[in-house]
Amino acid sequence: MDNSEELERVCVFGTGDMGRSLGLRLLQAGYGVVFGSRRPHSSSSLIPHGAQVLGHAAASQSAHLIFIAVQREHYDFLVPLANQLKGKVLVDLSNNLRKNQYPEANAEYLQSLVPGAEVVKGFNTLSAWSLQNGPSDANRQVYICGESVEAKQAVIAVAIKLGFSALDQGFLSVARELEDFPLQLFPQWRLPLRIAIGLSAAFFFYLLIRDIIYAYVTQSKDISFRIMVSLANKVCPIVSLIMLSLCYLPGVLASFLQLYRGTKYRRFPDWLDRWMLCRKQLGLLALGFAFLHVLYTLIIPIRYYVRFKATERTNRTTQFDTTTAWRGDSYLSLGILGFGLYVLLGITSLPSVINTLSWREFSFIQSKLGHLTLLLCTAHTYLYGWNRFLSSSTYKWYTPPGYMLCLVLPSVVLLLKLLLITPCVDRTITRIRQGWERGADQRNPKDSQPLIP
Ligand code: NAP
Repeated sequence: MDNSEELERVCVFGTGDMGRSLGLRLLQAGYGVVFGSRRPHSSSSLIPHGAQVLGHAAASQSAHLIFIAVQREHYDFLVPLANQLKGKVLVDLSNNLRKNQYPEANAEYLQSLVPGAEVVKGFNTLSAWSLQNGPSDANRQVYICGESVEAKQAVIAVAIKLGFSALDQGFLSVARELEDFPLQLFPQWRLPLRIAIGLSAAFFFYLLIRDIIYAYVTQSKDISFRIMVSLANKVCPIVSLIMLSLCYLPGVLASFLQLYRGTKYRRFPDWLDRWMLCRKQLGLLALGFAFLHVLYTLIIPIRYYVRFKATERTNRTTQFDTTTAWRGDSYLSLGILGFGLYVLLGITSLPSVINTLSWREFSFIQSKLGHLTLLLCTAHTYLYGWNRFLSSSTYKWYTPPGYMLCLVLPSVVLLLKLLLITPCVDRTITRIRQGWERGADQRNPKDSQPLIP
């Protein structure tokens, strides 16, 4: 058999779910596939049509590249084959059931068992199911790592032929990270979800005391039915507005930190870094709460309580008040505009949409339109409060309503942002972002010009 013929053949050890799915894709991509199995005779009925199944030793002779689709626990079957596997490229597909299950990465363990082979970690982030469905249905990226550049190139060539894009992550020491990858459970959503749940619970109980328990204690009125819609419709916009503010607060704080330090060449504190990294998730959760608020608002007219109140008022005549009409329409209009922009921000956070935007377009939408969204939603909430801010009856048991509390953070963020866009501060920030450093001025007095009077 000549060398070129050998390269077109690949071997897969293991005829389980992963091995069979990978074998099928390899066959579809034009490779000759030889399976290595403990029981070649009984396994032959399972393997995809067109593939061959042999014992491990015989199968390993037929190809240079061998995919190990066997659980790490059974890797010791490779030890007696160490001589036959010398110089071969072994692709370790294995994953673990939990993080830090073993002292070393599976790929490193495999390398220690078969020191003469070139071990490459890869394909483990794909599932057997996604391999069967083709790359259009699956994650298109295959992460690989290993010590030998040639071995990695051989694996990359196969990945590309199967329709994936291969990302070389470096040496085999990265294998543990790649093995942890499939075990991740929404790591970037954890903090935003905790904040959302914490805020929802805090405001739910706060409003329960103020709205429901207060009425029961002071007027002996049971209005507990309000929990289901009225209270939910108060909690959702509050949480949404606070979370939207939390999306923009770290950016504002980072700008002030750079202004204070007079340089952009110093790392932000870890907490700020982590906060910045989960802004997208905070924003999407904020959009989710805003969406619930819209739904709750739309069902208000069909509520029994509202229809009952409406019939009660039918015979009463009230004078039309233009100011109230203006206030009501402005309140609704700002809410609709704010929600429209909110949806736009959500859409432009989708990877497929981000890929079609230039950096300037993306930052215009996420930053400029994002702050405008915050402004509109804050104004919508201020209009909801209207003149109730000054009325003492608003402060039941001396506590402010939820919407007043939730206005604090967006108002602070907007004021700080306003400060940042004043010409002299903006000029300094722009210079810092272009690489200017305050300390450097003292070292080179020629550059030193007062920027903030
Ligand atoms: P599986 O269905 O249980 O198949 C494992 C195969 O390993 C068996 O079919 C068997 O093949 C072979 N095997 C079992 N015990 C053995 C032993 N003592 N000695 C030698 N070979 C033995 O498992 P799988 O789902 O295909 O997973 C295989 C590997 O791929 C695992 O390391 C897994 O972490 C990884 N992986 C799986 C997926 C997935 O979606 N399933 C995704 C990513 C990575 P023979 O009977 O032919 O010898």
